[in-house]
Amino acid sequence: MFCKTRTRLFKMSSAPPVKYKGLQNQGATCYLNSVLQVLFMTKEFREKVERATSSTARPPLGYPDKADILAELKSLFDELEHGDGSVSTRGITNRLHIDNVYQQQDAVEWFQKILSELGEGVTKDFQGNMQQLLKCSKKGHDVKEDNKFISVLLPVGTENDRVYDVKECLEDFFKSTMLDEDDWMYCDQCDDKTIKDVSCEIERHPTILALHIKRFYFDYMRHGFVKNCCRISIPSHVTLQKSEYDLYGVINHRGGYQGGHYDAYINPPEDGGWYCFDDGRVQRIADDFMKSSETAYLILYRKSKQPKNKKRKRKRKKAASGQKKKRSRRKHRWGKRH
Ligand SMILES: [Zn+2]
Repeated sequence: MFCKTRTRLFKMSSAPPVKYKGLQNQGATCYLNSVLQVLFMTKEFREKVERATSSTARPPLGYPDKADILAELKSLFDELEHGDGSVSTRGITNRLHIDNVYQQQDAVEWFQKILSELGEGVTKDFQGNMQQLLKCSKKGHDVKEDNKFISVLLPVGTENDRVYDVKECLEDFFKSTMLDEDDWMYCDQCDDKTIKDVSCEIERHPTILALHIKRFYFDYMRHGFVKNCCRISIPSHVTLQKSEYDLYGVINHRGGYQGGHYDAYINPPEDGGWYCFDDGRVQRIADDFMKSSETAYLILYRKSKQPKNKKRKRKRKKAASGQKKKRSRRKHRWGKRH
């Protein structure tokens, strides 16, 4: 498959000095840098890391590495916040036992690895729970399977001449699917391959929704992994089974399966703009990358605080309609009087 690796040109806004810091590339550690920047810019996570390390002076018994990684992240975050110039990640690569810093690796794998190393307390904003409903066609009973997740692997199409919408891919993912005969699943109760219908429901919505775009897949014709460079549009807002989410980060991969380069587009907390974090360089960018991206690989959304606003709006509406009623009653009384 032909893979466009051309870097997009951005319309630079009338450049105010960028206050955010980059991370040094040790060789081919851009995959790690993009993950660390996204984690740093996830405010909920950053605060938990800061709190957890300060209260964990000594490593928890039996988990010396966990405390080390927390302490290392805390120190990295501290430098990203208060240090000068681009920040070194040597402490992190040592703690994660990344010995060969010249080997390109998968950013999503490391995103998941770092979060699973840290344990549930620190990472609970990323955790969701999904229930898979498997419908048995023989007796009509449901088989339910619970799956915890920290990212959702989202399949997209492979046609080069169209733009896929992440919103539609997400809807398709949760639609009930009739399986092809070859894929029918085994039902324990019926002792037969009678499960033909599969659907997914979110049992617990994560605060941070990480969508892992399925860019890499095994091609049986070529006997190897290939990259799907299809274009996707990334909505700034999505709904996941009645929960609303706002976009705040994208990790991009440019290049093919064997190698390439990662960077991250992030809208930092309490900042109206978007920035490209490309190792040591941080630049302000326009948000038109959302319309069509050939590079988006991990897309991060934060649960929006809208329901509260909606509640407030509803309250205000109620109060306003109460006022109207009062006024109309008053009018009515006055009408009577006059
Ligand atoms: Zn059955």
